[in-house]
Order: sequence, then C-alpha cells, then structure tokens
Amino acid sequence: MSEPTPAHHDDPGDSAPLTCATCGHRPDPGHEATARLTWSRDTTGAAVSWTCDRCSREHLRSIEGKLDPVWW
Ligand SMILES: [Zn+2]
Repeated sequence: MSEPTPAHHDDPGDSAPLTCATCGHRPDPGHEATARLTWSRDTTGAAVSWTCDRCSREHLRSIEGKLDPVWW
C-alpha cells in the first residue's frame, strides 16, 4: 500500500564530506543539501571529490581553453 518513501537513496557518495577539492571550501551547515545540487561531484573509484560551484566554473573555463574544439 502506501509505505513512507525514504527521502533519499542510500548513495554512499552522499555520506562523503563536502569539501571543495580545489579551494577547500566547505558549505555552511544547513547549506550542504544545496551544495550537493550545485557542486560538481567527481567520482574516482571509491573516492568522491567535490568541486564548489565557483571552482567548477573556473575549471570549466580552463577545460574549454584546453579542449580541442572538435570535442564539442
Ligand atoms: Zn572551490
């Protein structure tokens, strides 16, 4: 019937500490849920690293500068 649906899945990545791998920034307590949506999560094997929204924007810019235009 109607059992209470868990609000979130048991994603191991969700328990990873939110720290920007680039600048070391951490979201304020209470803002972590928002950060999970706006930050970039990079999963390398079992390790999960986060990049804050500001760094991902900077990162994107540098990636676009290096990327071969054909990639797009
Ligand atoms: Zn950052």
